Amino acid sequence: MGKIIKGIPASPGISIGKVYLYKENELFIDTSEAKNLEIEKDKLLHGRDLTKEQLLRIREKTAKSLGEDKAAIFDGHITLLEDEDLFDEVVELIEDENITAEYALEQGINGYCEMLANLEDAYLRERAADLKDIGKRWLYNVTGTEIVDLSNLPKDSVVITKDLTPSDTAQLDLNNVIAFVTEIGGKTAHSSIMARSLELPAVVGTGSVCSEVATGMDIIVDAIEGIAIINPSEEEFKTYTAKREEYLAEKELLKQLKDKDAVSKDGIKVGAWANIGSPKDVPGLLRNGAQGIGLYRTEFLFMNNDRFPSEEEQFEAYKTVAESLEGKPVTIRTMDIGGDKSLPYMELPKEENPFLGWRALRVCLDRPEILKTQFRALLRASAFGYIKIMLPMIISLDEVRKSRALLKECMEELKAEGVAFDENIQLGIMVETPAVCFRAASFAKECDFFSIGTNDLTQYTLAVDRGNEKISHLYNSYNPAVLQAIKCAIDGAHAGGITISMCGEFAGDENATAILFGMGLDAFSMSAISVPRIKKNIMSLDKKECEKLVERVLEQTTAQEVLEVVAEFNKTVYGK
Ligand code: PEP
Ligand code: MG
Repeated sequence: MGKIIKGIPASPGISIGKVYLYKENELFIDTSEAKNLEIEKDKLLHGRDLTKEQLLRIREKTAKSLGEDKAAIFDGHITLLEDEDLFDEVVELIEDENITAEYALEQGINGYCEMLANLEDAYLRERAADLKDIGKRWLYNVTGTEIVDLSNLPKDSVVITKDLTPSDTAQLDLNNVIAFVTEIGGKTAHSSIMARSLELPAVVGTGSVCSEVATGMDIIVDAIEGIAIINPSEEEFKTYTAKREEYLAEKELLKQLKDKDAVSKDGIKVGAWANIGSPKDVPGLLRNGAQGIGLYRTEFLFMNNDRFPSEEEQFEAYKTVAESLEGKPVTIRTMDIGGDKSLPYMELPKEENPFLGWRALRVCLDRPEILKTQFRALLRASAFGYIKIMLPMIISLDEVRKSRALLKECMEELKAEGVAFDENIQLGIMVETPAVCFRAASFAKECDFFSIGTNDLTQYTLAVDRGNEKISHLYNSYNPAVLQAIKCAIDGAHAGGITISMCGEFAGDENATAILFGMGLDAFSMSAISVPRIKKNIMSLDKKECEKLVERVLEQTTAQEVLEVVAEFNKTVYGK
């Protein structure tokens, strides 16, 4: 028997492969006196040459996979690296203070970053993050510390690590990486969400897995149960190979619902949509039979970049998605940065409570040029399909009004420029805060649609950090308070005559379909892989019965009680 590691199933699937233990090597800065200044200066120069070589290789690879325009980013990096003033300053530090190359370089980079970060010019300010990044690579090279390249791992790798950032996840080469397992993180952490849209099996929040494994060990990941088996036995290999085949066969079977609508037994149709993070996710959603996009998280376009994407770049991405959906709804959310999502080129202040801080629309309304660029790109793309605009993290109608005024400004500009766009474009909001739930009917009067973001709504209703595994047992959307908040939002939307969907992960929770359908949700938007299962569930339901279930559910006093009532109901309708 192998060693079983338990965690949270974050993205379903079963993978059998080899461990790749990913650890960023620790950097040791020698602060003692330098023994030989010439050697230190050589180390500095050699480190810079090596960094340049690596950046040129990354540039070449990027040009092949993502095109010349993305690759050009690295030209800017190389220019920064070769800044002679910086180099001379570091050499001076080595000589004047008699210190090691790495110690002087660290000080030089920090000083330069600080200087850049305080400049008026936003473009130059944002170069501070680039320099930090390059500086780190340079320091690794000066000290001879190895840099891990996640985009180039051996075949059938299961990446095991403490934590995976969304940008780490974006770097993974899906031809070689077949799953990941992390010590921290929850189901709604953004790397988990990305894993689902990439259909990459993932188990998160396992605790101390890194100390239990070594690169090259055999491993089975059962991301349906949420376990990993290290050094499995022959027996376990056989069992999980069979389980994997069964899982893939069921996945295929469900895909036969691809062209079917989600219509209940009594003829009520709801939307079965998918969430995406980039145009690359579109083939997956079409394969799974999604009938629209309920959430396009545009921040990945901002995160996988070394500067704010231009209007043109954004327009191209939105247009591509709108065209591929051929008239089906494409709900595009404005940049939702902050919380657990940072931008490499934008200094976000260190905050005590980032999820309660300067994030999402709050950033955009303080920096309206960011929002206006995005609005212009969205409006231009709206001439090529059915685009709806969605605002995240709303707490007040002021925010909706200010955003609508900016949107109007953009419309007038485009009109004056003679550029085509959808003049009736809808502007809706995400329901992610109790502030909106309490006042849903009032918000509904000024919004064109609602979409419930249960990932945040759960954390804000229960005051439970969605990414903190220590309290993940408290993070539960079946808590009656969260269900009540969802019902408030749905009733408020309908009272105001608008439609309401759900794009939080709860929409793809197959145990919750009957409750949400009974509450009157108009559309479910989820990871593409969940679409067939949720369609199938809807087809087995009857609205009246589900309404009765909702009444019973809301009489319960704890999440556990709710789950028991729902399990009993689901058993009678789905037979399991
Ligand atoms: C949500 O909060 O439910 C949501 C869909 O947004 P995100 O997960 O990107 O915060
Ligand atoms: Mg959210």
